[in-house]
Amino acid sequence: MRSARFWIILAVLFAANILISNLLTSAGQPPTVTISYNSFLDQVNAGNVTSVTSTGESITGVAKTAVKDSSGTSSTKFQTQRPAFATDDLETLLIGHKVVMNAKDPNASTPLWETLLFSFGPTILLVIGFLYLSRRAAAAGAGGILGSFGQSRARLYDAEKPSVTFADVAGIDEVKADLQEVVDFLREPQKYQRLGGTVPKGVLLIGAPGTGKTLLARAVAGEAKVPFFSIAASEFVEAIVGVGASRVRDLFSKARAAAPAIIFIDELDAIGRSRAAALRVGGNDEQEQTLNQILTEMDGFDSREGVIVLAATNRADVLDPALLRPGRFDRRVTVQPPDRRGRAEILRIHSRHVVLAPDVDLDQVASQTPGLVGADLRNLVNEAALGAARKGEAAVTMADFAEAIERTLLGTERKILLSDLDRERIAYHESGHALLGLLVPGADPVKKVTIIPRGQALGVTLQSPIDDRFNYGEDYLRARLVGALGGRAAEKIVYGVVTTGAENDLLQVTRIAQQMVVRWGMSPKVGPLNYGDSDGAAFQQRTYSEGTAQLIDEEVRRISEECLAEAERLLQEHRSQLDALTRALLKSDSLDEAEILEVTGLKAQTEQRVSVPPDGQRQQALRTGRT
Ligand code: ADP
Ligand code: MG
Ligand code: ZN
Repeated sequence: MRSARFWIILAVLFAANILISNLLTSAGQPPTVTISYNSFLDQVNAGNVTSVTSTGESITGVAKTAVKDSSGTSSTKFQTQRPAFATDDLETLLIGHKVVMNAKDPNASTPLWETLLFSFGPTILLVIGFLYLSRRAAAAGAGGILGSFGQSRARLYDAEKPSVTFADVAGIDEVKADLQEVVDFLREPQKYQRLGGTVPKGVLLIGAPGTGKTLLARAVAGEAKVPFFSIAASEFVEAIVGVGASRVRDLFSKARAAAPAIIFIDELDAIGRSRAAALRVGGNDEQEQTLNQILTEMDGFDSREGVIVLAATNRADVLDPALLRPGRFDRRVTVQPPDRRGRAEILRIHSRHVVLAPDVDLDQVASQTPGLVGADLRNLVNEAALGAARKGEAAVTMADFAEAIERTLLGTERKILLSDLDRERIAYHESGHALLGLLVPGADPVKKVTIIPRGQALGVTLQSPIDDRFNYGEDYLRARLVGALGGRAAEKIVYGVVTTGAENDLLQVTRIAQQMVVRWGMSPKVGPLNYGDSDGAAFQQRTYSEGTAQLIDEEVRRISEECLAEAERLLQEHRSQLDALTRALLKSDSLDEAEILEVTGLKAQTEQRVSVPPDGQRQQALRTGRT
């Protein structure tokens, strides 16, 4: 990934090189013309020559007025060769015409430095230029050689003194408590040394994107008031070989010199993926070298030096086991998505500098946003504030928050022209989802259904849990499958044909059904075993036989087909409600929870189990849409 800038710099270097070689040889003087010995004698006789310098038999000289060579080029500098057989008395002739005479020792070689300069100068210049460039690349680290040449990358080497503290982090009190020990140690290393206790060298923060891992690491440094050295491991992935390792070495030596200090390695999974796993074609040297260097450095110091390495990852399960060995990242802290109270606190932190109208109830906003993490909530507050500003309001109101929630959960509205038939199809599709959300026991309440195109979707049904969920039951998962297949089922019942509009739904279905079978032991045939990694679908290394693989496929298909049949059965049974909902949707484009209940005459589901996505997976509001 070499940038255009790289090639420009290279071209300039080359041009400079050629120019300099020329300057060195001619030094900006007029060119030397070569003339015959006869015409040289003529020039002397004409009194046109002021000085000559002889080196053996060859003569260079300077003329008063320019002399011409045979090709017609003229110059005041000339050179000529005196024939060995010449018997003229050149000396007398020259003296007679008052020509200054110089001579050089024909055997004297040009000074060594001059030879070197002439022959190697340009090369040396080129090499120096290259060294300079690659050093910049090394400093830049990421983006391959020179990818970010010219930008200041000082940050990567210099310590930061973060001003954020634990007060800026909300909703994850358990994690803060875990990290308090690290803070205490960094504040008073002597105290810990005296008692002989060992503090972990490495702490690994594990959690979904946006849960505040980077923020926490900075807050630890801020709380302890120690320098913060950070690198993002992903920067090494495409770097030229050797850069990563040297950067790591540099980082550790700087941090140790500045101890007590924190080293933070963000996105550790980018390089720390298990070397055994992953179908690496030829392997990735840079990644491996960087990882090895981190391991070496971590082994090479004692936590009593006052350096603590924090690292963050979304995927602890894919990390190389070597990283998790004692003396490395042996302390692991899981950062969960915030619960309702946590979300309210995070909202409060991010609205500290926002002018809120008196009607704003952040607890209510928090209760409407299950599954959103810190980064989402910060965006939400920002969206609400921007929306209010756009409307020229004096303060951010609850209505602004409602709009922001809708935009965040559903995506932004898109203006596209649809035919009436398409609109009807979409309305049936979404009504199918929504109706099943009401009919299937245990499904998440349907908050909204709309046929206004948003983001990628042509229509959206939004279901979100009453409260945070901490565990999924099989019936809940099946309810989700049935609901997700509701769009397709409705289209099939009404039109007898299926369309491409269910692509996303099918993706969700496949994912859930696969995980039910391979991770959660919900297929009696496959049994209570876990064959998957948390991707569910990513069976990179099969740990099971071909026969089991076939069984898994069969079971995944059986579960989804059962759920599709259930969806069709329920919709057929409630065909009149499906039609009613579709008509209402075609009339008003969007229906909220109350309107949906009114149109269908159904009651909201009240019974809800509490659960959150397994393994801290992001809980997504169920968005089902035709794309
Ligand atoms: P991660 O590193 O886990 O992906 P970040 O730390 O980069 O998440 O979070 C991005 C931003 O979201 C933070 O800078 C902060 O503004 C906000 N944020 C995330 N989690 C929290 C939290 N628990 N409390 C307050 N703000 C948060
Ligand atoms: Mg981060
Ligand atoms: Zn759908």
